[in-house]
Amino acid sequence: MGLIVQKYGGSSLADKERILNVARRIVETKRDGNKVIAIVSAMGKTTDKLIQMAREISEVPPKREMDRLLSTGEQISMSLLAMAIQAMGEKAISLSGPQAGIMTDAYHSKARIKNVAADRLKKELEEDNIIIVAGFQGENADYDITTLGRGGSDTSAVAIAAAVDADLCEIFTDVDGVYSCDPRIVPKAKKLKVVSYDEMLELAILGAKVLQHRSVELAKTHKVAVHVRSSFNHNLGTVVKEDTSMEHNGIITGIAHDFNVAKVVVFGVPDKPGIAARIFGEISKLDINIQMIVQSAQTENMNDIAFTCSIEEAKEAQDALEKVVKEIGARSVVITDNLAKVSIVGAGMMTHTNIASRMFSALAGAGVNIDMISTSEITISVIVESDKCQDAVQALAKEFDLLENK
Ligand code: ADP
Ligand code: ASP
Ligand code: MG
Repeated sequence: MGLIVQKYGGSSLADKERILNVARRIVETKRDGNKVIAIVSAMGKTTDKLIQMAREISEVPPKREMDRLLSTGEQISMSLLAMAIQAMGEKAISLSGPQAGIMTDAYHSKARIKNVAADRLKKELEEDNIIIVAGFQGENADYDITTLGRGGSDTSAVAIAAAVDADLCEIFTDVDGVYSCDPRIVPKAKKLKVVSYDEMLELAILGAKVLQHRSVELAKTHKVAVHVRSSFNHNLGTVVKEDTSMEHNGIITGIAHDFNVAKVVVFGVPDKPGIAARIFGEISKLDINIQMIVQSAQTENMNDIAFTCSIEEAKEAQDALEKVVKEIGARSVVITDNLAKVSIVGAGMMTHTNIASRMFSALAGAGVNIDMISTSEITISVIVESDKCQDAVQALAKEFDLLENK
């Protein structure tokens, strides 16, 4: 008898039939002799619809109210699923994030889990309940509801699995596991049997939304093995774990892409000490996640400073920088957002030297122009025009042998 944490994503709960399918899977797991905690996302595109509704009411919805609103999506699915399970003859109880003891920091819309006070979860398990928890939400020190950022139910699931010391954490989604690249844009992508925490973390940070990156961070810290699999069949999926040295994925494990990228350029920045600190000091006050920074070569004691971040954050950054631009005597601040980021990820990069040149040649061969480049120990990312993104991913998948042979 084990304790199993399962997470079901929005597409797995999109309508009545799918909710009943998930209920059956959970009941099956329970009847196999396990205790079950299931974490749920909002049904289908509910979160997007709620965001749209808020924007129709207010141009910049207050973040506290936004979190209150978005948290309702998960609360609908948790209640419906608990009802479905009870109708199948099993004991079940639904809990919101705060009721499940998920405590977060204060940042509305991208809160981090600080602690899971698991007493209530343990009590309900002792009473033989199947527990359904609303994902993506917690409570801050002021007892206000917070949300964990898009895709945050993955993080709720891993945090709960760690807190109750679960034997297994299964993430059920709408694809069969983690693939070498997004199977929706490269249908012949290879399914990975295993992937290491470090590689999965990079893939997730760089845009592979199959797992929210914070869930991978937590899984690594608490050594939770995560099994990503489909809720529509019983195939084995992908195990995300520490050591994958027995199973080789090749030099490059995967490719991530991200359309939610904007470039912010501050033109005509005076070339003197303290200017970059002033610009990025202002940005850091907004808790914006900067991805790449490039400073152009200096001409006539001026240069341009460009950085990338998400499209929503770029607008916030531009507003904040208008004031700084005047103060430091720079020319202007301009956003470009018809861009995408394409990244290759693989631990093999640490021991192979020609990866960057192979990547750039493959992109050139596919007619893809590179706007910006950044590298880390196990990744190389490039910014390209968004309508070249698919060609870029496909060319790189071919170059690095990431396609199924069939
Ligand atoms: P859920 O609603 O179950 O949380 P998501 O839409 O958040 O599902 O994540 C699953 C999606 O992630 C897939 O439908 C797929 O398009 C996308 N995805 C991106 N990169 C990958 C990858 N490398 N492997 C698998 N899926 C990926
Ligand atoms: N419903 C939230 C979202 O759409 C959280 C999640 O699905 O994990 O981002
Ligand atoms: Mg998701």
